[in-house]
Amino acid sequence: MKKTPPTPRRLPLATNAVLHELEDSLLREMEAASNDGSEQRMEAAIAVACDRIDEVMTQLTALEPPQRPIACGARCPWCCHVKVNLSAPEALRIADHVRAHKTATEQAEILARIVATDAETRGRTTLERAAAPRPCPLLEDDNCSVHPVRPFACRGANSFDATVCKRAVTERAPQMVPAYAPQLRVASIARGAITFGGAAGGIDARPLELVAAMRIALERPNARERWSGGMPVFSQAIDEEAHRQILQMLKHPRR
Ligand code: SF4
Repeated sequence: MKKTPPTPRRLPLATNAVLHELEDSLLREMEAASNDGSEQRMEAAIAVACDRIDEVMTQLTALEPPQRPIACGARCPWCCHVKVNLSAPEALRIADHVRAHKTATEQAEILARIVATDAETRGRTTLERAAAPRPCPLLEDDNCSVHPVRPFACRGANSFDATVCKRAVTERAPQMVPAYAPQLRVASIARGAITFGGAAGGIDARPLELVAAMRIALERPNARERWSGGMPVFSQAIDEEAHRQILQMLKHPRR
């Protein structure tokens, strides 16, 4: 029998007010950065947004505590087997983190994992990736090696039940993961603000596929300068599927 998808739960008013305020402030910040025509300012705005999002999450958890304990924790890598997207400034920030915190040998190992994964995943859709799951090349010992600067999409991912996440990988099929909705919304608001705010000022902030973007950010030492100069250095990593989803979400926000 065909399963009826659950009706999305409407978030309480106080939670919505916090989310609205976050969305407005991130959009203002991204638009201002982008109207300056300044990719550097956009990168700085994204760093501030990461801190702001952590504060907002603390606020939301107090306002609307999760209905069940969130199951995510150390050495739980199941959600790190799906297609992830991020913006160019997020990819550049992760590359900085890798260069600052890893030895030359470790950097070479990470890049080798990225190149091997990219060969398998380039151009694949979310469903195709779910049918042939591969671990994110930034995973080390089942932990995210770039956790402090992980993409917004990863900040939003959460689950009340790790066995469902594990099933998605072992059974190679997407599952309906029970999750804390405000955390998902915070991440999608940030992703929307980057895409929309960038476009408003002519900065190409379309979402990129994580593996392909990290390959470019790490392989090309001048990736930042080229992106800052308005060159399409990340064009090979643009995730058109995610871009369509973000535009759809901006048209029909689910609150
Ligand atoms: S960047 Fe980190 S959190 Fe995101 S998928 Fe990769 S390992 Fe997981």
